[in-house]
Amino acid sequence: MREYLKFYLDGRWVDPVEPKTSEVINPATEAVSGRISMGSAADVDKAVRAARKAFASWSKTSRKQRLEVMQAIKAEYEKRQADIGAAITEEMGAPAALGNGFHVFLGAGHLDTAIEVLKEFKFEEQRGATLIVKEPIGVCALITPWNWPLNQIAVKVFPALATGCTMILKPPQLAPYSAQIFTEVLHAAGVPAGVFNLIQGSGSVVGTALSGHPDVDLVSFTGSELAGVEIAKNAATTVKRVCQELGGKSAFIVLDDADLAKSVAGATSSLMMNSGQTCSAGSRLLVPKSRMKEAIEAARKASSEVTVGDPKGSFAMGPVVSKSQYNEIQRYIQSGVDEGATLVAGGPGRPEGLTKGYYVKPTVFANVSNTMTVAREEIFGPVLCIIGYDDVDHAIEIANDSPFGLAGYVNGTDLEQCRAVARRLRTGWISMNGGFDFNAPFGGYKKSGNGREWGEFGFDEYVEVKAMLGYAPQT
Ligand code: NAP
Ligand code: MG
Repeated sequence: MREYLKFYLDGRWVDPVEPKTSEVINPATEAVSGRISMGSAADVDKAVRAARKAFASWSKTSRKQRLEVMQAIKAEYEKRQADIGAAITEEMGAPAALGNGFHVFLGAGHLDTAIEVLKEFKFEEQRGATLIVKEPIGVCALITPWNWPLNQIAVKVFPALATGCTMILKPPQLAPYSAQIFTEVLHAAGVPAGVFNLIQGSGSVVGTALSGHPDVDLVSFTGSELAGVEIAKNAATTVKRVCQELGGKSAFIVLDDADLAKSVAGATSSLMMNSGQTCSAGSRLLVPKSRMKEAIEAARKASSEVTVGDPKGSFAMGPVVSKSQYNEIQRYIQSGVDEGATLVAGGPGRPEGLTKGYYVKPTVFANVSNTMTVAREEIFGPVLCIIGYDDVDHAIEIANDSPFGLAGYVNGTDLEQCRAVARRLRTGWISMNGGFDFNAPFGGYKKSGNGREWGEFGFDEYVEVKAMLGYAPQT
């Protein structure tokens, strides 16, 4: 049993103002795995005061000083990788190989990237007689989700630290453990008191207190549209910057010259990774209508290879995060059946032999129409929808016919054609033939949000821009 009852405020582990705890459930067993404290508005006040005080000095540190702190974090992070991986497996059910693998790797990747960007980042630039200065925005509230818990923390905390901001992190109740170990890493690395603060608790209490706080300058949020809208509304009266990274329903376009079987297999296994709980997942697989049959066979084969079971074992997929997510996904699977999509694999109920835990069958629907509920809404589970298209224009039309605009995937042999398709997609992040880059900005169009994270663009979220006119003598 894990017990994380203290918050990290002003460089120390302290008790909450009012003692109140909540149990954390292991999604693989449905048993209680530990307890956390639930914060209040009074805890938020204390954290904001600590962060404000620390901002005075941290914002004045040199690039070199901040680089030293970040290198120290890197050294501590490396020591705790196994603990972080185990925490992720326990809190949200990622298979051990994925928790210790990609989850931990992403955190390390964002740290390395932030270090490299910080070395070169232009905090000042003279244009004509004007000096343009990028200054840290101030005290930041970072509100994160449970699906890639460490990645989402890393992608906010490292650029905030690197630009000279101070911060309060509010991790998800469903996945609070990795945040706790992450905080231990920062403490061990000697991050100065008050620069980073951690408060556990609910979005409705701690999150609301943060987004409405008059002395918080920015809220960076990743999660659902509903919470994102509530945060923006609550933040509006204090005119703070709000960065939203919300959901998606991204298209994976297999062009007619692609290796169809290979592309479909890759798209299927990527979607199933992390039990489909990825905002940028390519959950709508677009294939030429004439090749639907082939695609169905390839997806059926690939999904049958996605073994499901105890995340401590060597299965490809663990459970989904919670009972409510399980129920939500079941409802979507039923709607796919009811609305007439062809069920190719999986379907309602738990996988055979699993009677406990929030396990969902790797599910594939084919002959899906883009108007069906399963094609329009973010399911956030291991459910792939295969949609047929007539020609490239039709594929692009379907891809863009979505309230979301986060990611896109284009597979094809003719790179020129892939590029042309990618240019026409109304989304913020597009991967052609598996391209991946820690420096590429990540964020969405439309209802997928308004921020850009990762790499240098991620730094820009945390800075104010000051123009000093007449900096050079006017000629
Ligand atoms: P969520 O409610 O948006 O939670 C994300 C974070 O925001 C959590 O820390 C949550 O706190 C907090 N929060 C919730 N309401 C808030 C409010 N009014 N003010 C401030 N903070 C608030 O996400 P969820 O309920 O866990 O998941 C529901 C759906 O969101 C999923 O099915 C999926 O579609 C979407 N989602 C998207 C992403 C993504 O990466 N884009 C990630 C996760 C979920 P609590 O600890 O109280 O939950
Ligand atoms: Mg919620």
